[in-house]
Amino acid sequence: MNVKVGWGVPGTMAVARGDDAGRAPSAVAAYRLRDAVYLNLTNRCTLRCRFCPKFHGLWTVGEARLRLRASEEPSVTAVIEAARALGSCTEYVFCGLGEPTTRWSALLAVAAALRTEGRPIRLNTDGLASLIHGRDVAPELAGLVDHVSISLNAADERTYEHLCRPSRAGSYSAMLAFAARARTFVPRVTLTAIAGLEGVDLDACARIARELGVAFRARPLESTDGRSFRVR
Ligand code: SF4
Repeated sequence: MNVKVGWGVPGTMAVARGDDAGRAPSAVAAYRLRDAVYLNLTNRCTLRCRFCPKFHGLWTVGEARLRLRASEEPSVTAVIEAARALGSCTEYVFCGLGEPTTRWSALLAVAAALRTEGRPIRLNTDGLASLIHGRDVAPELAGLVDHVSISLNAADERTYEHLCRPSRAGSYSAMLAFAARARTFVPRVTLTAIAGLEGVDLDACARIARELGVAFRARPLESTDGRSFRVR
């Protein structure tokens, strides 16, 4: 299936890490997308989603390069400074081409520091933080994050496993359990799924969100830069 994705957005602005003078531009710790500032903590992830841009060679959002080797992951201070350097914004969003909760303590530290700016903070996540870290981490989001957007991606485990190729057993049920827990500690929780992917039943996804008492949003696959790729 050919789908177009919203990466490589014109009009983005980014702050590169400061250790790359004279060399090819390094990955950014923060980047601006429309009115929000996005925070790029890591490329690591326990999923290998077929629709993930990085598995199709797409590592940029506008001018912002998001490809990070593990040794290049920005420090907490670097992320905070990069975010602040981008100036005023409507929202801070933890979101890159990896799962931000992989760096759980860094995420909490960045959120706590940016909290003082008085802007909403959103976490875009695969919802697997508690599974990865081996404990219920949802309570630790209380007071630090205003909105958690969780990639539901499919209305059943079989479709999820086909689309997201999890490396950890029990990922689908762990993601649903995290959504239920997050609802207790975070003011706003949204489940999302991509419209237009073969086998994804958006109505059933919305029903799951309703049953969990959280919001649902179908993520569009609209092209912003004209590039497209085939989801294998
Ligand atoms: S969860 Fe996100 S970063 Fe991880 S593979 Fe899926 S789309 Fe990519």
